[in-house]
Amino acid sequence: MKKVNSKNIQIDIKRHSLAHVMALAVKELWPNVKFAIGPAIDNGFYYDFDFGNKKVVEDDLRKIEKKIKHLIKQDLKFEKTEINVSQAIEKEKKEGQLYKVDLLEKLKKEGEKKVNYYKLGRFEDLCRGPHIESAGKLNKDGFKLNKLAGAYWRGDEKNKMLTRIYGVAFETKQELKNI
Ligand SMILES: [Zn+2]
Repeated sequence: MKKVNSKNIQIDIKRHSLAHVMALAVKELWPNVKFAIGPAIDNGFYYDFDFGNKKVVEDDLRKIEKKIKHLIKQDLKFEKTEINVSQAIEKEKKEGQLYKVDLLEKLKKEGEKKVNYYKLGRFEDLCRGPHIESAGKLNKDGFKLNKLAGAYWRGDEKNKMLTRIYGVAFETKQELKNI
């Protein structure tokens, strides 16, 4: 079992922050993509995307990795804003982000009045955080996108199958090599 200590918390924050950087990279490459969720997991992170008709292949992972490294070098900042949940629903509807609308409607039903967004470059994501201060805190040689999988929205087979992109991420290049 994973030990809970501050070192693990730090790397989990970095892994989740990398999921945001990956989402931005994907948005820059395929602007019409729809975003679902992007948590940290053991050894890394993932993000679920709806690419529409595009079939994502291994080659695309290398393209996305390259873009992520570029974004890390730009050292973009994570900027937090808080907005009214109904306003957030309107905003996501306008942008056609139906999974975010779904998440927000659930939060609204649960009684949430305000929600947090984190902006990173041109991608603003609904998220509670926490994140690192800026993308430059990530090690551009400490991660790799290693797996593609199908994943149903909310894990329900009645829903659409999304594309899950998995990454592994560590503080150092050496740790990444050792897995
Ligand atoms: Zn986040």
